[in-house]
Amino acid sequence: MKTHRIKAGIIGAGISGLLCACELERLRPRSVILEKEPEVGGHVRSFIEKGYTYDVGLHLFLGGYSYIIPFLKKAAVRMRYIGEGAVFYHNKKFFRLERKISSILKFGLLDFADRVKILTNSNRILKSDIDYFMKYDEDNFASWCETNLSKKALELFYAPLIKSITFLPPEQVSSGLWLHAEKLRVKERESLAVYYPEKGVETAGLSVISKALKWYCERMGSEVWTNSTVKRVVIEDERVKGIEYIREGVEEFLEMPFVVFTGPIINLFNLVSEKHFPSDFRERIKEVKYTSALAIQIGLDKSLTDHRSVILTPNKLITAVAQILPPYGIIAPPGKSLLAGTCIEPSLQNKTDEEIVDILIEDLKDLFPEIEKHLLWTKVLKIKNAIEAQYPGIMSLKLDTNRTPIEGLYIAGNYANNDNWHSSIEGAARSGRNCAKLIEHDAKVLLVR
Ligand SMILES: Cc1cc2nc3c(=O)[nH]c(=O)nc-3n(C[C@H](O)[C@H](O)[C@H](O)COP(=O)(O)OP(=O)(O)OC[C@H]3O[C@@H](n4cnc5c(N)ncnc54)[C@H](O)[C@@H]3O)c2cc1C
Repeated sequence: MKTHRIKAGIIGAGISGLLCACELERLRPRSVILEKEPEVGGHVRSFIEKGYTYDVGLHLFLGGYSYIIPFLKKAAVRMRYIGEGAVFYHNKKFFRLERKISSILKFGLLDFADRVKILTNSNRILKSDIDYFMKYDEDNFASWCETNLSKKALELFYAPLIKSITFLPPEQVSSGLWLHAEKLRVKERESLAVYYPEKGVETAGLSVISKALKWYCERMGSEVWTNSTVKRVVIEDERVKGIEYIREGVEEFLEMPFVVFTGPIINLFNLVSEKHFPSDFRERIKEVKYTSALAIQIGLDKSLTDHRSVILTPNKLITAVAQILPPYGIIAPPGKSLLAGTCIEPSLQNKTDEEIVDILIEDLKDLFPEIEKHLLWTKVLKIKNAIEAQYPGIMSLKLDTNRTPIEGLYIAGNYANNDNWHSSIEGAARSGRNCAKLIEHDAKVLLVR
């Protein structure tokens, strides 16, 4: 096995790994990202099948993503406003929520008393700090909502919102974590405005984002190796020695003082022996769970709705559906318009693609009665470990750092410090940046020693 020396190795070219490499300003000339797939991007990726480009699921950027959107501009991706973020569907009617927080007062799906309570609560949590949210971490949001608001507010407003973001029902989501997410939504005034890349999506899908970030870090001197799977992180005397990886069938060893692990944290012990970690760290990681999701894409010969944003659907199998018109978003195979949605119903995971399509189209007929007449093609993707589960107690399990107890080993991604922007592109990006800053700090200390 050949040995090469570098400064930092990043495992995974998802948004967190790419941003970490982009922000490693001092170590950049000698850092490498290793990605097992042929394409970069992780969940924010496109792939080609039979000559057509598909995206891995429906992905939207919100105006409140105040770190990644400006960063993308540096990488030559201009984002374009495409609409307001939330339209709720209920009993054959659509109810729009505009981006100003006070627009809840006009939100006709709820009684006026509930609207006022939601607004009052928003103002209260805006002034609250992390200790306040931690107090509610062990509760689930459904019971918090029933006690503090009403069952109707839960069913018609929060349940669809929470399901589309966390892929879980509110009974399985930490109340503290969700209240904190609400604080971010209120604080970032643009949080309900939806953005998408302006150019490139016509031919490359959403991977224009990850390709631009790859280009940015390569231009600064980092390398990105695809088709490269990391098999083991080598530890000696409780500090990182390097990584073993396979690239195009050849096993090699990279010696380096810093390694960043990204992707689902539950896979960490496949690469690093558990025995190197203290028991409390091991226990924490083993308690983290992930949810699976189905993403469906439906090509149509006609546009079916005027809503240019996500439609949230209480009591439907598809929890969030959006109509995407060229040139925005998922592009293949070309049709006049395309519906993309996310479904989190666990009972569908074991069915065949054809069975899933039949069930979901039947479900969507309520929203779009003419859907069958205009169908051109469908594509179903089963996504394992889609999103880290946000069950009660999760806040106390999360790391508020990107360091691990092993010297030189770091974590980026939703489990690690991401400024509490969980389960989002913004959170992944922030965790990459935070990780890079810690490594740069630790590298200085290492050089002084
Ligand atoms: C269906 C779906 C819809 C979503 N919608 C939205 C949305 O609308 N808006 C939003 O903000 N967020 C959305 N998200 C969340 C967002 O996609 C994620 O938070 C983000 O992409 C996570 O990035 P990451 O870099 O942490 O992880 P990942 O994207 O999982 O990247 C990890 C990378 O590591 C690689 N890897 C793993 N192990 C190894 C190894 N041993 N060797 C080499 N490489 C390895 C993987 O191949 C992968 O490329 C959605 C997620 C899903 C699944």
